[in-house]
Amino acid sequence: MNLASFDVLVVGAGIAGSSLVLQLRALRPDITIAVIDKAEFPREKVCGCCLNHRAIHALESLPGFAGYVPTGHPLEAFKFFTSGAPAVSVTLPRSIAISRGLLDNALLFAIRRTNVQSFAGTQALRTWTDNDLRYIEVRRGGRTETLSASLVIACDGLGGPFARWAGLAKPVSAPRKIGASVILESGAFSRLQDRAISMFHGREGYAGIVRLEDRRWNVAACLRVDRLDGRSPTNALRELLKTHGIELPAETQVSVTPPLHRKVRRPWKNRLLLAGDAAGYHEPFTGEGMAWALEAAGALAPLAACGWSIRMARMWEKTWRRQQGKRTVLRSLAAVLDHERLTQAVAQVAHILPAAPNLTVRELNRTSRHV
Ligand SMILES: Cc1cc2nc3c(=O)[nH]c(=O)nc-3n(C[C@H](O)[C@H](O)[C@H](O)COP(=O)(O)OP(=O)(O)OC[C@H]3O[C@@H](n4cnc5c(N)ncnc54)[C@H](O)[C@@H]3O)c2cc1C
Repeated sequence: MNLASFDVLVVGAGIAGSSLVLQLRALRPDITIAVIDKAEFPREKVCGCCLNHRAIHALESLPGFAGYVPTGHPLEAFKFFTSGAPAVSVTLPRSIAISRGLLDNALLFAIRRTNVQSFAGTQALRTWTDNDLRYIEVRRGGRTETLSASLVIACDGLGGPFARWAGLAKPVSAPRKIGASVILESGAFSRLQDRAISMFHGREGYAGIVRLEDRRWNVAACLRVDRLDGRSPTNALRELLKTHGIELPAETQVSVTPPLHRKVRRPWKNRLLLAGDAAGYHEPFTGEGMAWALEAAGALAPLAACGWSIRMARMWEKTWRRQQGKRTVLRSLAAVLDHERLTQAVAQVAHILPAAPNLTVRELNRTSRHV
């Protein structure tokens, strides 16, 4: 059954999808727009929950959202701990920690105040296209229906299926890393610095801990699959933190992500564009992931406002390549963290020359770096 047809249909109401919808609606009040997400909201998702200065700036600039940016827990420092080297402390420009349950729901709430149609609990199952429209079969409330649109924008995240369905990304055959996270009650880590991202590095990978807006703690980790050694992700994280004297409560169970890898050939196919993590994943450290998703949506909205054409898709590809190219600092840092000795050496240098990491973080937060 054909449920409805739209000018633009956005799949995924995460950071990229929701911010794109708000901007597109402001640019084109005259077109029909819909957004679907497989989750019911509010929902948590695996994330470190840190918003850096650039992300906060981008959220505050979103049409229809400025007065609704939820209050997070302020973050002032990034503390990095690895065994065999002194702790490194970096001052953070304006940053906050905020649960994805609160943030993503606030964005969806802002969308629902516009005349965009939003369908939560609606999972895309497959997609196909003819000359005029792209179709998406969805499952909603136990029923299967078909939606169609002149332009579909897939903001379906790291493990989202659209890039694979369109033949733009290959399935990951041997995952190297996975993400994991859990939110714990307020008493769990009271000896950690309250307004800091505390990051612990070890053999299994690394884990960041922050306080959230409601005083609970968010623990998020990037775990190396080849170092799990038959342990569950929860137990690998437990042992990683234990080497730093941090105990996870006995009942802890983490949620995990698909492999932390997404490389696409190009971010479009006939009447389909990819944005956010769906179009490429890079490991974030101090809140860059959501800033990238917001910046991608900010650059894509004026292009999508013109409607589908190959010329528009190629312009998006050009912008996307430029944005991907700006992530070299973070890619290098992720590569360093894969090697324990190298990480220790870099931590030693950063301890002696604290200006270097401070400058790097300041540079990563410069709002003029927006594309
Ligand atoms: C361990 C870890 C820690 C991180 N820490 C941070 C951090 O501290 N700060 C930061 O800025 N970034 C962090 N990130 C990165 C950040 O989470 C992402 O970059 C950001 O969420 C990307 O936004 P997005 O909108 O592209 O995707 P998402 O936020 O993942 O949204 C995708 C949406 O698509 C929906 N979806 C997927 N498939 C379908 C389907 N078939 N049908 C319908 N809907 C679908 C999902 O339900 C989801 O709501 C972290 C990531 C990981 C893995």
